[in-house]
Amino acid sequence: MNFQLCILGCSSAVPTAERGLSAQWLEIHHKHYLLDCGEGTQIRIRQEGLPMQRLSVIFISHAHADHFLGLPGLLSTMDLLGRKKSLRIVCPESVKEFLVHYWNTVDYQPGYPIEIDVEAWKEGGLILEEDSVQVEAISLKHALPCRGFIFREQRDAFVLDKEKIKQYELSNTQLKELKQGNSVQLSNGTLLDANQVGSIGPAGRSYAYLTDTRPVLQTLLKIPAPNVLYHEATFTEKHKERAKKTQHSTASEAAEIAEKWGVSSLILGHFSVRYPNLEELLLEAQSLFKNTQIAYNGLRIEL
Ligand SMILES: [Zn+2]
Ligand SMILES: [Zn+2]
Repeated sequence: MNFQLCILGCSSAVPTAERGLSAQWLEIHHKHYLLDCGEGTQIRIRQEGLPMQRLSVIFISHAHADHFLGLPGLLSTMDLLGRKKSLRIVCPESVKEFLVHYWNTVDYQPGYPIEIDVEAWKEGGLILEEDSVQVEAISLKHALPCRGFIFREQRDAFVLDKEKIKQYELSNTQLKELKQGNSVQLSNGTLLDANQVGSIGPAGRSYAYLTDTRPVLQTLLKIPAPNVLYHEATFTEKHKERAKKTQHSTASEAAEIAEKWGVSSLILGHFSVRYPNLEELLLEAQSLFKNTQIAYNGLRIEL
């Protein structure tokens, strides 16, 4: 089953010729999700050949323009191209207000159902649970209230041995229980334990999207580390004071988070346009956390 990430944009505040504003596409078990939607995201989706109409949920981290201004255009393009499928948008209240105001101004609203879920964004915690994936929203530390999103692939705790389970007449409910590592009662009254018919399965893959934020290590240490972490690195240590003032992180700080949280790999993003050469940020991070790479438009990763 697939778990793919595609970076659509990773520039902070201002786009450059090479870098779009914040947006990422995630495909997990053939379900499609968008993380943030900076201006120009619909063009980037077209350039990458991604299936816009199959998008099911859009997650917006916070109400800074470089993370949501692409919504009006994207939402109406999907309508113009004949979308019927419903769409859920998890976003702050002010982003909902912006969309409603915009639709009133242009006296038009997309024809397909759109559920704008500000409650899930506000409450945080487990905000999406599907067969294939769970999404957790956590609080970040930024100039505005901001959410980070962690995607965890749902895998069965136990992989059952087909030959062994053949000898029992098990219902679908019983199979589901066993796959979760539980015991079930058979028709003759005896208990069948998951260990008798299976073994512990592989751990699910996971991905965390953390932008924009100061480092929030104490929050993260309470949560299992993901395989891959995208962490903003707007500045280098040379501009640390600026990072603190604008509530962003440096490349070193992102690397320290990766190291202490215990992730397998780190992707740096949300770069200030003041750095024409991102090598500087990469080297700074790699001196603390080797398995680091720089995000760029079109970077694709299979987790
Ligand atoms: Zn930003
Ligand atoms: Zn911001």
